[in-house]
Amino acid sequence: MTRAGAWPATPEALPAPIVDNHCHLEYPAGDEPRTVEDRLAEAAAAGVTRVVQIGCDLDSARWTADAVARFPSMLGGVALHPNDAAVLAAAGEYDAAFAEVAGLARGERIRVVGETGLDFFRTGPEGRDAQVAAFRDHIALAKELGKPLQIHDRDAHAEVIDVLDRDGAPEVTVFHCFSGDAAMARLAAHRGWYLSFAGTVTFKNAHQLRAAAAVTPLSHVLVETDAPFLTPHPRRGAPNAPAQAALTARELSRVLEVDLAELCTTVWNTSHDLYGPW
Ligand SMILES: [Zn+2]
Repeated sequence: MTRAGAWPATPEALPAPIVDNHCHLEYPAGDEPRTVEDRLAEAAAAGVTRVVQIGCDLDSARWTADAVARFPSMLGGVALHPNDAAVLAAAGEYDAAFAEVAGLARGERIRVVGETGLDFFRTGPEGRDAQVAAFRDHIALAKELGKPLQIHDRDAHAEVIDVLDRDGAPEVTVFHCFSGDAAMARLAAHRGWYLSFAGTVTFKNAHQLRAAAAVTPLSHVLVETDAPFLTPHPRRGAPNAPAQAALTARELSRVLEVDLAELCTTVWNTSHDLYGPW
């Protein structure tokens, strides 16, 4: 999968650094592909000085394990994405793939098990049992390793919460690209879970998501790009890169009615509390 289009301008620098809590830098993106070094340098110039790189299929997980050893500003997460888990299970290839991911997850600079969860948008009913089984495997792995879990939840809010409650969520549980409403945000924060907001919170029609952000305690807010996808407003349609997390941080500061520097510092500290030192 690639993301075509001209690269958007680098956002104005933030007053204090933040972490891009979730990105996929292995994807080639842009009409003129930029190296990972270029994208990390651009991010640093915008105040996004550290990233969590997520590899959620076998090739991407291997890429991530290699990249975190080369880039000091990058920590990683590995998993089998719920949509891939369903396909792998149908092909009888899930167990071997999960075993390899579980091995990579032990790496010292792999600090996240994710993204895992449920996706009822892209996977139909025939794949749901396989997704639930894979989600439970990843929950168990995160608990075994004592590492944070990053959740992908697309059109499956109630079912994701149900699995977490039944199995017991890992000590650190993060909803990547949170997409629930205010009631779900309250429920998640009440359970001690973290909500990572992507560029979607800047979209013009995202009133419900901004209402969710507004009721989330600042202590449980994270910022991410999900680059190269979900480019924030007003650069929707262009390929996304970690630098653009600055736009999302500015929008969250407005929505949460907190000073931008305070938001950045809090997100920075929370990211380090969850994932450990870079
Ligand atoms: Zn992602």
